[in-house]
Amino acid sequence: MSDCIFCNIISGAAPCHKLYEDDHVVAFLDIFPSVLGHTLVVPKKHSNNVLGLDPHEAEAAIGAIQKLAPGLVKAVGAEGFNIGCNTGAAAGQVVHHTHFHILPRRSDDGKRMWGQMDPKPDLDALIETIRKEL
Ligand code: 5GP
Ligand code: ZN
Repeated sequence: MSDCIFCNIISGAAPCHKLYEDDHVVAFLDIFPSVLGHTLVVPKKHSNNVLGLDPHEAEAAIGAIQKLAPGLVKAVGAEGFNIGCNTGAAAGQVVHHTHFHILPRRSDDGKRMWGQMDPKPDLDALIETIRKEL
């Protein structure tokens, strides 16, 4: 898709700082990093979001994450990492080509990814509501 920035990066029409590439996946540094070493792992075949991702491409993406993350974490002096996959504008998805964020983390980096709901929801009622939709 010529109007998709990640398709353009994958085809070589747009530049990137590439870490890794195989037949199914490319990984490159995020241009506006949240943390040092913020990396995007991008399946080559275009899908708008993870719901449309070919399961074989998903397998390749997780394989690439497993391959890259230890060295990436070490290189930036981090201790662990988060994997993120924003799905839908409400969840912060800006680029509508499926991608996974690798966010190297340090215990003292001051980032808090998830807060807790207060008050806590009624989980007994909630599980019934969700099951009806599955
Ligand atoms: P989303 O919010 O869609 O999950 O994440 C999209 C990510 O892609 C953002 O973190 C943004 O900084 C990054 N990004 C957007 N355009 C480009 C680009 O042209 N090159 C690179 N390397 N990253 C990009
Ligand atoms: Zn695309």
